[in-house]
Amino acid sequence: MEKVLLITGSSRGIGAATALLAAREGYRICINYQSDHEAAERICDQIRELGAQVIAVQADASDEDQVIALFARIDAELGPVTALVNNAGTVAQASRLEEMSEIRLLRMMKTNVVGPMLCAKHALLRMSPRHGGKGGSIVNVSSVAARLGSPGEYVDYAASKGALDTFTIGLAREVAGEGIRVNAVRPGYIFTDFHVLSGDPQRVNKLEPGIPMGRGGVAEEVAEAIVWLLSDKASYATGTFIDLGGGR
Ligand code: NAP
Repeated sequence: MEKVLLITGSSRGIGAATALLAAREGYRICINYQSDHEAAERICDQIRELGAQVIAVQADASDEDQVIALFARIDAELGPVTALVNNAGTVAQASRLEEMSEIRLLRMMKTNVVGPMLCAKHALLRMSPRHGGKGGSIVNVSSVAARLGSPGEYVDYAASKGALDTFTIGLAREVAGEGIRVNAVRPGYIFTDFHVLSGDPQRVNKLEPGIPMGRGGVAEEVAEAIVWLLSDKASYATGTFIDLGGGR
C-alpha cells in the first residue's frame, strides 16, 4: 500500500522530528503548518535530501474549511492519506482556573480536541472501506497532563488532552473492523519551543529534578513511538497509549 502521511503542526518540534523519521520509512509526507512558512520549507528540504516526496501546506488544522482544502491538496499531490498524526496543539500562560477567559478555554478545546477530530474525520473519508479506502493508521499526540491534570498551571490544556485520550479509545473501537488503527502517545516534558506559549521557555530545564529519570525528553524520542504506532509493526495495537514521560 502507498504510504501517505499527514502530520499536523509539523514545521518544528515533535511533528518535525516525526516527519524526518517517517521520511526514512518510505512515507510521502505532508508538512502542515499554521504560520511559519520558512520553517516548514526548511524541514521539506531536509526530507527531500532523504529522498522522500514532501509538500508543505499552510492550514489551521482546527478549521474545517481549511482542513478540507488541506486534504484536497494532499489528494492531488501525494495521493489519499493513509496515515495521520494529530500533532498540532497549543497551551497558554500558566495560571489558575479563575484567571482563564472563555476565549482561552474555547481556543484550547478547538485546537487540541476539535482539530484532531476534524482531521480524523477527513482521514476516515479516505481510509475507511465504507468510502472506498483500504485502511490506515492514526496517532494522536496527547500528554501525560491528561493523567496528571496540571493543577495550578493549565488544567484547560490537561482537560483537552484527556478529551483527546477518550476520543482515541472511542474512535479506535468505532473503526477497528475497518482496517484502521487509532492510538496515542503521551509525552512528558520535551525540549521544544512549545513552552514559550506557557510563558517559560526554560520550563523543562527547571523541572528536570522532579522527573524520575532526571532529564527532559527530546522530540526524536517521541517520534520513535509515533512512527512505530503508525507502522505495521504495531498491527495489533489500537486504542492504546505510549507514555514518554521519563517515569512521570
Ligand atoms: P511546538 O514546537 O510548539 O509545535 C507545535 C506546532 O503546532 C507548531 O508547528 C504550530 O505551528 C502548530 N500548530 C499549532 N496550532 C495549530 C493549528 N491550529 N493548525 C496547524 N498547526 C498548528 O510544540 P511540540 O512540543 O512539538 O508539541 C507538539 C504536540 O505535542 C502538541 O500537541 C503538544 O500538546 C504535545 N506535547 C508537547 C509536550 C512538550 O513538552 N513539548 C508535552 C506533551 C505533549 P505555528 O507555530 O505555525 O502555530
